[in-house]
Amino acid sequence: MENKELLKKISYKSSNIYEKSSDKEIKEMFEFCEGYKTFLDASKTERECVETATKMAKNAGFRDMDGVDTLNPGDKVYKINRDKNIFLLVVGTEDIKNGFHLVGSHIDSPRLDLKPNPLFEAEEIALLKTHYYGGIKKYQWTTIPFAMHGVVYLQSGKKVTLNIGENIGDPIFCVTDLLPHLADEQVKKPAHKAIDGEKLNVFVGTIPVNDDDIKDKVKFNILKYLYETYEIIEEDFLSAEIEIVPAGPARDAGFDRSVVAAYGHDDRVCAYSALDAILHTENNKKTAVCMLVDKEETGSSGNTGFQSRFFEFAMTQMIAKLSGSCDILKLNEIFARSQCLSGDVSAAVDPNYTDVFEKANSAFLNHGVAVNKYTGARGKSGTSDANSEFLQEIRKLFHDNDVAWQICELGKVDGGGGGTIAQYVANHNIDTLDCGTAILSMHAPMELASKADIFMTYKAYHSFFNMK
Ligand code: MN
Ligand code: MN
Repeated sequence: MENKELLKKISYKSSNIYEKSSDKEIKEMFEFCEGYKTFLDASKTERECVETATKMAKNAGFRDMDGVDTLNPGDKVYKINRDKNIFLLVVGTEDIKNGFHLVGSHIDSPRLDLKPNPLFEAEEIALLKTHYYGGIKKYQWTTIPFAMHGVVYLQSGKKVTLNIGENIGDPIFCVTDLLPHLADEQVKKPAHKAIDGEKLNVFVGTIPVNDDDIKDKVKFNILKYLYETYEIIEEDFLSAEIEIVPAGPARDAGFDRSVVAAYGHDDRVCAYSALDAILHTENNKKTAVCMLVDKEETGSSGNTGFQSRFFEFAMTQMIAKLSGSCDILKLNEIFARSQCLSGDVSAAVDPNYTDVFEKANSAFLNHGVAVNKYTGARGKSGTSDANSEFLQEIRKLFHDNDVAWQICELGKVDGGGGGTIAQYVANHNIDTLDCGTAILSMHAPMELASKADIFMTYKAYHSFFNMK
């Protein structure tokens, strides 16, 4: 064999999907992302994601698992936890005692939450106080259009759903920033101190009520508007969940339209790919399970995060409905034989910031779904490190199914780090591997994801659910 040939055979480098794709394949990738963009526009909060996913599941013939006594091969069911998680399941032809195939992704994204008592007036302007959610660079969240999404319960118990700022005729909201002319002191600060968390107050109005007996006339006018429009009174904010998110739809980016620019790719890109994959799963051998969870951005804690007992509860119910009963021994035997792809985004190499990446072990846009053998920080602290045996199985699966994929770490060894739900899944003694889309500008109000990579993420999960 010639050295050149031999080199091709024995050396490794990931490659650009477009170098090997036909026009038909490119069309398929782009079309898949039209569905994804529609999902994103309808699903800017975890509650909205669950609502959209439920609608899609029902349309695909899924039924509520709570209304089903027994489960049989081919059955499709879902289960919802507190309107913020959804678990979907397609029963496989093989006995559940041999384990299931799980894809878990999160549907919460970084944002600004309203504080419990948010409304105030200062300098004749009405504002809402916020408490940011997840790891954000605060300076990115000023002077951009925001929408307001959430739920408010009235004293009567009536639920009011808010969704303001997405339609072109809607008002938007925003956080102001200092003019450069007066920012001499501000711009000298390190970026993480330039915007104080307590200054992320959202602008909501300026017109005072024309009545000298009222103090805080602008605030009163906003309260009056909320009462007349929604019957909301100030005390109702105390129990509300209102999220301030970037306004507007997902859009194509670039002359070649190869990238989707949107809020919340982390982690709705994996969530949608997993959801669509399970909706297109049929005659599968292993029982396929998709979990879309909340609170990953704040540590997966609480009763809607992955660490909640909801996962075990749903699994126990599923096993009992499949095989008549489920005790702890049985649950653990099944977990020990189960496998999981933890679907979460990874960082793609950014040409403006190559210095934080070690390129031989980093993900590149258009090089396929990104696999992290391990995550964590410094000496792999807080990691879930997939076993070689499992990674090899997935490697073969992707090879056999033409899934373009790449291996990566999250930046240089001592550059920082991060985690996903993988460690919490793996704690159940389930083989778990991080596998998702590598994106640019993660956690920014607008993130970028490649259409080719998004489609490969879907293909990866689909091949895993339908593994023979
Ligand atoms: Mn994530
Ligand atoms: Mn994240």
